[in-house]
Amino acid sequence: MGVSILAIIYIIAAVTFIMGLKMMSNPASARKGNMIAGVGMVAAILGTIFLYRNPDGGLLQNHIWIFAAIAVGTIIGVMAAKKVKMTAMPEMVSLFNGLGGASATLISVIEFNHLADQGFPVEASSAGTMAIIFAGVILGNITFSGSIVAWGKLSGKFKDFAFKGQHIINLLLLGASIALAVFITSDLQSDTTTMLFYVVFMLSLVYGIFFVLPIGGADMPVVISLLNSLSGLSAACSGFLYDNKVVFTGGILVGAAGTILTVLMCKAMNRSLVNVLIGSFGGGGKSAAADGEQGQYKEISLNDAAVVMSYANKVLIVPGYGLAVAQAQHTCHELEKLLEVKGVQVKYAIHPVAGRMPGHMNVLLAEADVSYDKLLEMEEANDEFPTTDVVLILGANDVVNPAAKTDPGSPIYGMPILDVELAKNVIVNKRSMKPGYAGIENGLFYRPKTSMLFGDAKKVLQDLCGEIKSL
Ligand code: NDP
Repeated sequence: MGVSILAIIYIIAAVTFIMGLKMMSNPASARKGNMIAGVGMVAAILGTIFLYRNPDGGLLQNHIWIFAAIAVGTIIGVMAAKKVKMTAMPEMVSLFNGLGGASATLISVIEFNHLADQGFPVEASSAGTMAIIFAGVILGNITFSGSIVAWGKLSGKFKDFAFKGQHIINLLLLGASIALAVFITSDLQSDTTTMLFYVVFMLSLVYGIFFVLPIGGADMPVVISLLNSLSGLSAACSGFLYDNKVVFTGGILVGAAGTILTVLMCKAMNRSLVNVLIGSFGGGGKSAAADGEQGQYKEISLNDAAVVMSYANKVLIVPGYGLAVAQAQHTCHELEKLLEVKGVQVKYAIHPVAGRMPGHMNVLLAEADVSYDKLLEMEEANDEFPTTDVVLILGANDVVNPAAKTDPGSPIYGMPILDVELAKNVIVNKRSMKPGYAGIENGLFYRPKTSMLFGDAKKVLQDLCGEIKSL
C-alpha cells in the first residue's frame, strides 16, 4: 500500500517539475513555477523518507540522521540564498551545479563500494549497472570540479589558463577515464578493480578543471549552461541506480533544460558547441578597439543627457552587468516612468548573454517590476534601433562591442551584438574606460554618435531622475 502511495506521490512530483519548468519559461509565472516544483520536491522527499521500503521490505529507520542532514542543508541553503547579492547569483548557481555533481559522484562511489564489499555479485553487477555507476562518477566529477572553476572565474578568483596542447591532454584525460571504466567493468574480480576505480575518479576530476580553465570571456555562458545540463544527467544516473523515478525524472528534466539552454547560448554567441569547447578560446585578449579608434571619446553632462532623453520620441535602455553591480534596477524603472510621463516611449534591449548568467537581465528587471512587454529580445531590439532617438547603455560593454562584427582578431568576433549605433544618439554609462568581462576594448565608445556618462549606474540614474524632474 505504502509503495503504491509513494508511486503516486512520485508521479505528482514529476508533474509539478514539468509544470514548474514550463512556468519558468515566462518571467510572469516563473516565481509560481519555482514554488510549485519546490512543493513537489518536498512531497517526494517526505514520501521517500516515510514510505520507501528497503529491498527487505522494511521502512527507513535512520530518521535522525536524515532530518539532521536536511536541517543542516536547509539552514545553509536558506542563509546562502538570503545573503547572496544579486551580482553573486551566477557564482551561487555554479556552486549549486557543482554540489549536484558531487552528490551524484558520492552516490556512485557508495554503490561501487557496496558491490565491491559483496565481491561484485553477478546478478547485481551487470554491465548496465556498472556503466551507470561510472557515468555517475565521470559526469558528477566533471560537473563538480568544472563548476568550482567556473565559480572561481566568475568571482574573479581564477584567471583563464590555457597551454599548448591542452586540447589533446583534455581528450586523453576523458578518453582514459572512459577506456578504464570499460576495462574495469570487463574484469570486476581483478585485485586492482577498486584502485583503478579511484584512478577514473581522479582523471575525471582533473578533466573537469582542465575543461573549464581555458574557456574565457564571452564563451562562459555556454559552459555554465553545459555544466547545468551535466549536473542533471549525473543526477539522472543516481535515480537510475536507486530505481528512483522522481530523481531520474528530475535529473533528465534538468539535463534536457540545460541542453536546450546550451543550444540557445551557442546560438546567442553564434558559435557551435565544438567551437566553444575546442576552438579559439576568447578572453583576456587585448584586441584593439575596432578601427583603432581609441583616444577620442566625448562626455555628456547629466543635464544634457536628461534633455536629450526628455525630448526624444523613443528611448531604448540597454542593461548590462554594471546595472546589476550597482543594484540600479529600481532607479532605472523610476527613470522609465518619468520619461513616459513626458510622452517618451521607453523599452529595454536585452542581449541573451548580458550580465553573468543566462536570463540575468530579465530577473533583475523583473525584481524592479519592469513590465515584461517592455523587454525586447536582441532581434526585436535590432529592428527598433533605426527608429530610436536615444540608446542609454547602463553598465553594458561586450554586448554592444562592434568588434564582434568588424574585428576578426577579436575573441568575440562573430557574436551577435545589439546594433545600438543604428540609433540617433548613444549614451554610455559606466565608471571608466575599462573593458568588460571579455577584457577587450570597445570601439563604440569612440564613435561620433556616442557620448560617455561616467559614474556608478545607481548614482547617475538618481541624478538623471532629479534632472528630468526639474526640466
Ligand atoms: P560586461 O562585463 O561586458 O561590462 C560591464 C561593464 O559594466 C563594465 O565595462 C564596467 O565598466 C561596467 N560597470 C561595472 N560596475 C558598474 C557600476 N557600478 N556602474 C556602472 N557601470 C559599471 O557586461 P555585459 O553585460 O555587456 O556583457 C556580459 C559579459 O559577461 C559577456 O562577455 C558575456 O559573455 C559574459 N558572461 C555572461 C554570462 C551569462 O550567462 N550572461 C556568464 C558568464 C560570462 P567600468 O568598470 O568602467 O564601470
